[in-house]
Amino acid sequence: MSTATATSPLMPTYPRPPVTLVRGEGTRVWDADGREYLDFLTGLAVCSLGHSHPKVAAAVAEQASTLLHVSNLYGNAIGPEVAATLDRLLGTPAWADGWTGDGPRGRVFFANSGAEANECAIKLARRFGGRGRHVVVSALGSFHGRTMAALAATGQPAKHEPFQPMPEGFRHVAWNDLDALAGALDPTVAAVLLEPLQGEGGVNPATAEFVQGARRLCDERGALLMFDEVQTGLGRTGRWFGHQRFDVVPDVVTMAKALGNGVPVGACWARAEVAEVFAPGDHGSTFGGQPFAMAAARAVLAEMEAIDAPARATRQGTRLAEALADVPGVASVRGMGLLLGAELAPGLAAPGVAAACLAAGLIVNPVTPTTLRFAPPLTVSDDEIDAAVAVLTTVITEATAAASEPTAAEPGGGAP
Ligand SMILES: *Cc1c(COP(=O)(O)O)cnc(C)c1O
Repeated sequence: MSTATATSPLMPTYPRPPVTLVRGEGTRVWDADGREYLDFLTGLAVCSLGHSHPKVAAAVAEQASTLLHVSNLYGNAIGPEVAATLDRLLGTPAWADGWTGDGPRGRVFFANSGAEANECAIKLARRFGGRGRHVVVSALGSFHGRTMAALAATGQPAKHEPFQPMPEGFRHVAWNDLDALAGALDPTVAAVLLEPLQGEGGVNPATAEFVQGARRLCDERGALLMFDEVQTGLGRTGRWFGHQRFDVVPDVVTMAKALGNGVPVGACWARAEVAEVFAPGDHGSTFGGQPFAMAAARAVLAEMEAIDAPARATRQGTRLAEALADVPGVASVRGMGLLLGAELAPGLAAPGVAAACLAAGLIVNPVTPTTLRFAPPLTVSDDEIDAAVAVLTTVITEATAAASEPTAAEPGGGAP
């Protein structure tokens, strides 16, 4: 056992953190020694409005001294308001539910995290499908969370292995492979669960053919189409929700990360016809939808609408993607809006480059051994983008020079 894991009072579920952060403002964070960093990961795409946003801070502070929690046995005024806003932003067309104008087109369950939002979606799919129609099909390379059902839906067999046996009723198909999906959709399938763009899996966008084909297949075979928008939702991809880029109508949409700008909150939205299969007692949460998290979400959504967050993601995402593509050592750039992956040229390792960026004052994430993930706040400025790209350029230039130096020149080195 390493010293770090032996001495920390925390369970060793994460590697030893390289720095301890104590303060944030906008795109910047500071560590315990007062060093400043540009945060181009934003707490894993969470603080989309930037750190310590004044309007979110004020809403949270006011709610903390007004009413934090009442449980879901009693009503609070804010939850239904947030749910109605999400329903509007999802913009499901009226025909999808035979909507008559006297109620919401979809309904929302509030949870506390992305995994929990997906648990709700999975239970909803099973309740909708009924006995014998309970299988959830998801994609290889996907990420849906760490709780047992969300883990089972996650298409990464290595993450399942230490925890076998997995819960029953999950099936995986190759990403963007419509034939594979068609082959997997037998009468036991209740739902297909897809990310519009795989985030943790390496910033891999879905193709329009795959998403639109999935919609068609689900309609033909009576399965629900559910989008996991925990990372892609709420403006990050340049639309309110990533699936909106593909012009498909979803049955279920989950979200979390950006919804509270750092306050834990998740949500599962479903078309009214689907949502109403839940009866009291079918699902619940002590903390879900509490006034505290709802006050944060309400402030976040109001600010996102005020600044047109999706338009910002498109504009700044274009600037960042173009600048990254020009960095020597970046082979290609993929993604949507401000969720971008830079594929490094052969010979460069993403973990090493990310560590060197951190040392130089830039936070980025090595999402795969060869890919850096960029998810800055949607409020990121032109200057901040230019500064971040300058740091990356210097780091990669130095890494490339070091790699091409003769071994004998290494300090204390000398080939045997
Ligand atoms: C982060 C993430 C999750 C899990 O969210 P938690 O809040 O960590 O439980 C689920 N799905 C996707 C697509 C994610 O990016």
